[in-house]
Amino acid sequence: MFSHPEFDSHETIVFSRDAVSKLTAIIAVHNTALGPGFGGCRMWPYEDEEAALRDVLRLSRGMTYKAAICELPYGGAKSVIIGDSETDKTPAALRAMGRLVEGLNGLYIIADDVGTNLDDLAVMRQETSYTAAATAAAGQPLAVTAHGVSKALEAAAAFVLGRSDLAGLKVAVQGLGNVGMPLCRILHEHGAELTVCDIDPERLVIARREIGATVVPPGEIYGRGVDVFAPCAFGAILNDETIPRLKAKIVCGGANNQLLGPEHDRALAERGIVYVPDYLANAGGVIDFHMEHIDDTPDAVLRAVDRIGEITAEMLVRAKTNAETPLRLTDRLVRQRLDDAGAARLSSKAD
Ligand code: NAD
Repeated sequence: MFSHPEFDSHETIVFSRDAVSKLTAIIAVHNTALGPGFGGCRMWPYEDEEAALRDVLRLSRGMTYKAAICELPYGGAKSVIIGDSETDKTPAALRAMGRLVEGLNGLYIIADDVGTNLDDLAVMRQETSYTAAATAAAGQPLAVTAHGVSKALEAAAAFVLGRSDLAGLKVAVQGLGNVGMPLCRILHEHGAELTVCDIDPERLVIARREIGATVVPPGEIYGRGVDVFAPCAFGAILNDETIPRLKAKIVCGGANNQLLGPEHDRALAERGIVYVPDYLANAGGVIDFHMEHIDDTPDAVLRAVDRIGEITAEMLVRAKTNAETPLRLTDRLVRQRLDDAGAARLSSKAD
């Protein structure tokens, strides 16, 4: 485990199998130097255990980076339940998951993710208090991630293209799910021209009818003559094959782990494409969680998520000044914050 390519100094990894409910789950707590590990629970029928482990490790690390770059008092963690959310999700399995979280005694705060929802968290809450969305107002779905991506995109368009608003901005959105569709609606409201793709024909019909989007086949989304490419479907889509096809000047989207490898950040920069770090653009969920404890009315939450736009603007300026890519800069800042917090934790214990 310690030499796993995605291990990246995870603090705690729990593998659990509940014989009665048949729950098979992994919880990965990446780093708690800044606070308890916060992250969603993904339920997915992974091909094998290695795929589940790889996914949970990469996602929990991403959660650390989201919280740290937004200067929030949380660490990063994530969990996966191996199974089909349509057929394998039972109250007994969810309660077993709740007990597992409770056993970590606050090291991990669990939230919803692909394959789980707020109702599932309510079942887990029978066993643990360490869940997100514990308050009534938070129970209503709010497109926080899409809102954050739109703010990051606005900041990048201002910095790279000198635009004061989004009117007429050409954006290609890959994936019209929980993030991509509301992002399209927000961008459309601000006058952006949208080109979209998805593998679900019903979503394409909605995008064409309600947002006036131009629909293209999935393989053609990369080469469109647009200002911004917004990946909102899945990860690793920025790679040797796709990057040379991009005509956009900016990549800014909601998908996690967009780069196949770290070398692809350099490949984008060499083509003059500004890449807004995915974990910054899509950090809306962590800010939303933070607001549960402060003011979780929709207006207050969205205003707090606006901060993603401010941080993006600041990072783009600093990266240019330092002649480094925005990702190198944000990675460096996050690691510095984690090291400082880790050192402070150590010295306060020693006192
Ligand atoms: P989702 O499953 O709701 O949507 C994904 C969409 O992509 C679906 O409409 C699907 O049909 C489409 N798709 C699948 N394969 C495709 C392909 N080859 N080409 C084009 N479209 C394709 O997922 P989501 O919640 O919208 O999340 C999207 C991404 O954003 C994921 O990487 C996720 O990890 C990340 N993310 C989501 C959230 C959130 O709040 N939902 C938060 C942070 C990050």
